[in-house]
Amino acid sequence: MSKRIGVIGGGQLARMMIVPAIHLGLELKVLAEAEGSPATVAATMVGDYNQLDVVREFAKTVDVITFDHEHVPLSVLRTLEQEGISVQPPSAALAFAQNKLHMRQRLTELGLPMPAWAEIKTAEQLERFIAENGGVAILKTPIGGYDGKGVRVVRTSADAAEWLSAEGLAKVGGSLLAEEKVDFVRELAQLSARTPSGEFKAWPLVQTVQQDGVCAEVLAPAPGASEEILARTAEIARGVAEGLGVTGVLAVEMFEARDGRLIINELAMRPHNSGHFSIEGSVTSQFEQHLRAVSDLPLGSTASRAAHAVMINLLGVDDENDFVRNYAKAMKDQPEAKLHVYGKSARKGRKMGHVTVVHEDSSQALAVARAAAEILRHGN
Ligand code: ADP
Repeated sequence: MSKRIGVIGGGQLARMMIVPAIHLGLELKVLAEAEGSPATVAATMVGDYNQLDVVREFAKTVDVITFDHEHVPLSVLRTLEQEGISVQPPSAALAFAQNKLHMRQRLTELGLPMPAWAEIKTAEQLERFIAENGGVAILKTPIGGYDGKGVRVVRTSADAAEWLSAEGLAKVGGSLLAEEKVDFVRELAQLSARTPSGEFKAWPLVQTVQQDGVCAEVLAPAPGASEEILARTAEIARGVAEGLGVTGVLAVEMFEARDGRLIINELAMRPHNSGHFSIEGSVTSQFEQHLRAVSDLPLGSTASRAAHAVMINLLGVDDENDFVRNYAKAMKDQPEAKLHVYGKSARKGRKMGHVTVVHEDSSQALAVARAAAEILRHGN
């Protein structure tokens, strides 16, 4: 069993692992990218995770390496693994979270539900894909995208001329990913966890509401999802986790298409924004589960503690509001709301914190969470 867990990345996800690590008696260390990062209290090293020497130095102080983000170069992780260090999830799994094209290829081989997709190297290939898919496609850079950056709706190859240039292609590994533009009624996320020994557990499916490419609200469980859909999405997550050898928490982002298909969009191999509700909403939070999983300890129950949970992200409104200045009023007016602030300096659009409300009544949960978020954003 691993007692000392090293998290690469000092963001809010590492920050939220700190409390469960304390409760479980695990030692948590963080390799942060900068002083004053959200996980400062646990940061034992500050350094560049792209540098093998830095990561190796950090790895010497822990029993297992895990992550707050997916950007550590695979070459660095493979070297650590060759040197006998436990990396969870392993580099062989993370490779599929770092490259959307490889993810589509492998999940297609595994028979998991994908949109129509193609690898694109030339304008002609893109024109053909657009023509075969109703005159429109979603074009993605396979590497380096997040929060909607690196995703574009295209109706002609001219819409992506600079991506298709030799220089543009070189930046993203030589090819682009084209996907059918899924006509979806909503976006869903299936959170799960798997241990190196193979134990697997899933939380109930959630609905994510995106605004401008960023997650704004999460409704847990996904409203109106039938037992059959809940069972199907949990099996999809199991297929991904076992098929790719993922350990720790896995989030599978999905579309519910108008024609009833459930289609995998993206994967995250770490605690995920769609799972923050689980801190108050579940017997075991995604942060505790991640620590258990990467330590190869038995997983905790993923049962819900209330009928409904609503999570609302606190996205930066300007360069002033750190979401602390209004929180006494939010606490006073909405005592059922649980406030989480990440300790970041204010910046418009930045994920600054979140609010969760659990309740037996779904509309009450949503109303309280929205009222609290509104006070935190605007003071009333
Ligand atoms: P990122 O990695 O930047 O989060 P995603 O692949 O999740 O990018 O895409 C961002 C958003 O773009 C999705 O949340 C969804 O709204 C939209 N999108 C992505 N792929 C498709 C698709 N194939 N069909 C329709 N919409 C899509």
